[in-house]
Amino acid sequence: MQIQHKISRQRSEALFNEAKTLFPGGVNSPVRAFKSVIGPPLFIRKGKGSRIWDEDGNVFTDFCCSWGPLILGHDNERIRESIIETVANGTSFGAPTALGNQLGKLILSNHRYIEKMRFVSSGTEAVMSAIRLARGVTGRDKILKFEGCYHGHVDSLLVRAGSGLVTFGVSTSAGIPDAFIGDTLVLPLDDTDALDRLLEQSGQEVACIIIEPVPANNGLLLQQRSFLQYLREQCTRYGILLIFDEVISGFRVGFEGAAGYYGIQPDIITFGKIIGGGMPVGAYAASAEIMGHVAPDGPVYQAGTLSANPVAMAAGYAALRQLLEPGFYEQLARKTADFVRMIQDHCDEKGYPVSIPHIASIFWLSFSRDTIRTAAAIDPAGMEHFKRLHFELLQEGIYLGPSGYEVGFVSAAHTPEDLQSAAETICKAMDGIFA
Ligand SMILES: *Cc1c(COP(=O)(O)O)cnc(C)c1O
Repeated sequence: MQIQHKISRQRSEALFNEAKTLFPGGVNSPVRAFKSVIGPPLFIRKGKGSRIWDEDGNVFTDFCCSWGPLILGHDNERIRESIIETVANGTSFGAPTALGNQLGKLILSNHRYIEKMRFVSSGTEAVMSAIRLARGVTGRDKILKFEGCYHGHVDSLLVRAGSGLVTFGVSTSAGIPDAFIGDTLVLPLDDTDALDRLLEQSGQEVACIIIEPVPANNGLLLQQRSFLQYLREQCTRYGILLIFDEVISGFRVGFEGAAGYYGIQPDIITFGKIIGGGMPVGAYAASAEIMGHVAPDGPVYQAGTLSANPVAMAAGYAALRQLLEPGFYEQLARKTADFVRMIQDHCDEKGYPVSIPHIASIFWLSFSRDTIRTAAAIDPAGMEHFKRLHFELLQEGIYLGPSGYEVGFVSAAHTPEDLQSAAETICKAMDGIFA
C-alpha cells in the first residue's frame, strides 16, 4: 500500500521516540501504542467538545472519547468549573468530604439496583474489590468469566480477556501464578448449555459470575436479554453472586446502566470511566446487606489513599448531574442511531461486508454481515480492513480508537453536523477499501 502522509506526525513521532526511553513501549497503557494500526501514536495536546488537537496541530473529530469516560465530550464547562472551584481548597485530605456524600447520594438515589457503594480509583480496582467481596460473602474461591469480556488487569481475570489483550493476541498475561488461574473458569458468551454443564459440575464452588452485560472490549458482543436473565436465575439457584461489570455500560446505556436497560438485578455492580467525569474514579456497589461485608463494617478488607478524592468527586458530580437532565440519553441514542444508519445504508447499498452493532451511544465497526455474539465469531481478517480505515480516517480528521476490537463512542458534544460529516468521510473511506 502506498502511504500518503496528508497529516504530519513529526512532533508526535519525536515525543514517541522519547517516550520509548521512559515507558515500556512508550506508553502507560498498551493499546495507546498504535501497535495494530499504521504510524506512531498521536500525542494529544487538547480537547474541546467533539474535537481533539495533537502536538502537530492536526484536529480530529474524536470517537474514542478517552475510551468511554467523556460522554459529555472534552472540556465540559460545568465539569471544568467544578474542578477549578474544588481544587482551590486543596487536592486530597485522606478524610471524608461532603463532596463524596454528594456524589454517592446522587448515584444511589437515582439507581434502583444498588443501595450502598464504595469509591475506588479505577475500574480495575473496582472489579478486584468486587471479586474479593463475592468470595468473602460466599466463602467460595472459584469465579466464572466469559471469553472476550475484559475486566481490567486483575490477575485472576486476565484469562481470555479482551481490550489490549486481543489486540496483541495475548490470551493470558505472564506473571500470574497458575493457582490464581485455576480458580478462574471461562465460558463462551451466549451459550446456556455450556453454562449448565459447568454449573452442574462445580456450581457449589463458584463465588461469582462476572460479565460485561454489554460486552464492549472485544468488539461489541451484544447479548440477548434472555441470556443475561438466565445467568440471573442460575446464580440465584446455586447461591452464586452475579457481578455486572458496568465500567463501560454504567451511566452510558442509561443512568442505571445495563441493569436498568435490561431490567435485571445483579448482586454487585462495578463502575468506572463515566463516573469520574474524566478523573480517575471507580466504584463498586450492591445491596446494603452485601456491602455490610466490607471493612470497617465487615471482614472484607479494601482501602485507598486517594479513594473518593474530592476533586474527582466534584468532577463526577458535575458530570452525572448533566446526565440526569430529561431526554439526555434519548437524544444521544437517537444521534448515534442516525450516524450509524448513514454509514450502514451506504455499505448495504454498495454491498460491502460491514455491519455496525450499536447500543445507546456505543458503536462498533464490524467487517462482517453476521450478528456476532461471541469472541470466537470475530474474523481476525477484518482487522486488516480496520487498519486501512483507521489510517485513512486520521488523514481526513477522524480519530477512532487504534484497534478494530475497540468500540467507538458518541458524546453529547458531537453535533448532528459533526456526525453527518464524519459519516460521509467514513463512507468514502469504505469506498476506498472495498470499491
Ligand atoms: C475499562 C474497563 C475496566 C478497567 O477499568 P480501568 O479504569 O481501565 O482500570 C474494567 N472493566 C470494563 C468492562 C472496562 O471497560
